Amino acid sequence: MPDGTTRCRACHGSDGPVVLDLGEQPPWDRMPPWDTPLPDAAYPLRMWCCRDCGLAQLEADAEHVEELFAVEPRAVVEQSDRSVSRLAAEGLLRPGGRVVEFGSPHGESWLPRLTGRGMTAVDPAGCPDGTADLIVDFYGLLHEPDQHRALHRRAAALAPGGTLAMQLLPLGTVLREGQWYDLRHGHYAYWSLPALDAALRGFGLGVHRAWRYPLSGGTLLVTARADAAPDAATRELIEEERALGVTDPAALARLQEAADDVRWLRDWLAAERAAGRTVAGYGAASRAVPLICRAGLDAGLLTAIGDAAPGKQGRRMPGTDIPIVSPDELAAARPDRVVLFLPALADEVRAQLPEVEAAGGRWVVPVAGREAVQTLPPLAMLGSRSPG
Ligand SMILES: [Zn+2]
Repeated sequence: MPDGTTRCRACHGSDGPVVLDLGEQPPWDRMPPWDTPLPDAAYPLRMWCCRDCGLAQLEADAEHVEELFAVEPRAVVEQSDRSVSRLAAEGLLRPGGRVVEFGSPHGESWLPRLTGRGMTAVDPAGCPDGTADLIVDFYGLLHEPDQHRALHRRAAALAPGGTLAMQLLPLGTVLREGQWYDLRHGHYAYWSLPALDAALRGFGLGVHRAWRYPLSGGTLLVTARADAAPDAATRELIEEERALGVTDPAALARLQEAADDVRWLRDWLAAERAAGRTVAGYGAASRAVPLICRAGLDAGLLTAIGDAAPGKQGRRMPGTDIPIVSPDELAAARPDRVVLFLPALADEVRAQLPEVEAAGGRWVVPVAGREAVQTLPPLAMLGSRSPG
């Protein structure tokens, strides 16, 4: 779609450039049975940045035909625990208070944690305006094609004095870490704190507090309310993102450079193969799809990808012939190297699969945007190796 016909999902402005173009990419959530012939359908995947409000966003809508439920990694569950505890420490989880959840179509729910503390859950579909003492949005907002409508619904649902709490991966993290592969079909909005704060003010809210956690390179828990008064630490997070250039299309173009550099991964795998070493992967995660497609990998270079989700096993990665196998099958193949596509899960996955290192294999992580592969030290050196 040429500039001029693109309309901002939040402010409806039309002025802005494409800042990241990944070409044609297969939908990340469509993992076909392993013997389905190639090629897979692919669609343009582009990030467009609005000059008026600074929202980086998916340029085009994409249809979704399938939703494969992933096993929620322990690191994600633990972050949910931390986020809910933080909200409790802020005094936001009052017994009898009404909570509305705008959740993700493929994430877990926070409601059991909140009703377990005495809050009353109200269905967002049947929620009259002005009823929610607390709204929790756990990766929900980014799935909404119409961001203006999504923000309006959340603001309207809040009771006077209510708080909107959101967990999201901010654009600042994507930019700082060169995580261009976080651009996905179906993930429409890539908010930064400065842009989100400005957009919320259009609905009578503003960023009140924000906390950063290590998950996914830097995940934020953000609260917004009508009489928002950010403290010094929150203002620092907002300014830190602004300094990175999150609302500047020229700065965002650095993501394109990182995406264009991905050939190093293919070269590394070819060198491993030439040296007689077999390499498998672990984590058939959404972020692995564009990385693998963009690097042009196939089963000749990466023999298989292990994943704990039964719904993914027996399928293959979109756009390639790389099969997805169970963790047990992965270990039984005794690969010399295992590329971990979710580096944050290193401790968890290595502890669950000690067989890999017991057989002489090594875990490696791609270092995004830095043209490097880093070999993790043996788990025993970390002092947490389980017996067997
Ligand atoms: Zn805009």
